[in-house]
Amino acid sequence: MSNKPDHKTRGLLLMVVAPSGVGKTSLTRRLVADHNDLHLSISATTREPRPGEHEGRDYHFVGRPEFDSMVEADAFLEWAEVYGNRYGSPRAPIMEALDRGESVLFDIDFQGAMKICDQAAADCVLVYILPPSLAEMSRRLHARSQDSEDVIYQRLARAKEEIVAYETFDYVILNDDFDRAYSDLAHIYHAERLKRARNTWLGPFVHELLGEDV
Ligand code: 5GP
Repeated sequence: MSNKPDHKTRGLLLMVVAPSGVGKTSLTRRLVADHNDLHLSISATTREPRPGEHEGRDYHFVGRPEFDSMVEADAFLEWAEVYGNRYGSPRAPIMEALDRGESVLFDIDFQGAMKICDQAAADCVLVYILPPSLAEMSRRLHARSQDSEDVIYQRLARAKEEIVAYETFDYVILNDDFDRAYSDLAHIYHAERLKRARNTWLGPFVHELLGEDV
């Protein structure tokens, strides 16, 4: 089933959740690069940029007063405090993409994904990425040397709490091999796009089809 440009489809909200150090960023960035009907939701955050991070590409880096006035203005679909910083998903670009029949990928934490899916269950697809082991996850966190020992400890503790809830997710991908994990993620996206309920063009098309004189 191909989505012809004049055929209306409804986009989906693809939530990809994983503990840090599981390779989620590489998987999600590649999925977005490979699909021009899929956009990454760029969150606003009060945290300082890390080396190599860019405004508007990785996050919108804002001060606390600006963040709080966005909360006041109901400009976020959800927001949360994670490790002492605030993060929020701006509402407007998400709604605009869905209206165009395009999809939005969220690289956000577990609680944020759940809040969005509570509001938009029919549009949401929940994917969890599992590490091959906690030891490997700890090794990757140390190797990227972005976090203090204390933060790494918190991330590992939170991972354990989250993994317990794996049954909440529609799909769970084991990232023990990047290429296979990517292929799994891409297949999930393609199949979800093909779901009948998202292909709103089908109703009028079938109506026309059945009206044909043969
Ligand atoms: P980091 O500071 O490492 O980029 O992100 C810390 C955590 O905040 C990650 O788990 C990340 O997925 C999460 N996060 C990023 N953006 C958002 C957002 O808009 N909302 C929520 N709830 N969490 C977010």
